[in-house]
Amino acid sequence: MRIHCPFCGSRDTGEFTYRGDAAPTRPTVPDEAAFIDYAYLRDNIAGPIDEHWYHLHGCRQWLTVRRDTVTHEIFSAVFAATLATEEAR
Ligand SMILES: [Zn+2]
Repeated sequence: MRIHCPFCGSRDTGEFTYRGDAAPTRPTVPDEAAFIDYAYLRDNIAGPIDEHWYHLHGCRQWLTVRRDTVTHEIFSAVFAATLATEEAR
């Protein structure tokens, strides 16, 4: 599987570290049950999801990669910081 890094270009996934599903967000208020859900519980989605990948052996940037978990087809890869900035607008 290859990921097209916006800075480095097309690279093998061996250069990346997988973090997981990009959807969970850290709770903003102290709530033990919500934090346990955020930290430990994940849906096992079959199909396209957004994931976080770190380009450890490249530009050392976090990417948000849209990938189908069944076919492993990658639809897009953008810098996670850029996406977070756009979502905050
Ligand atoms: Zn890169």
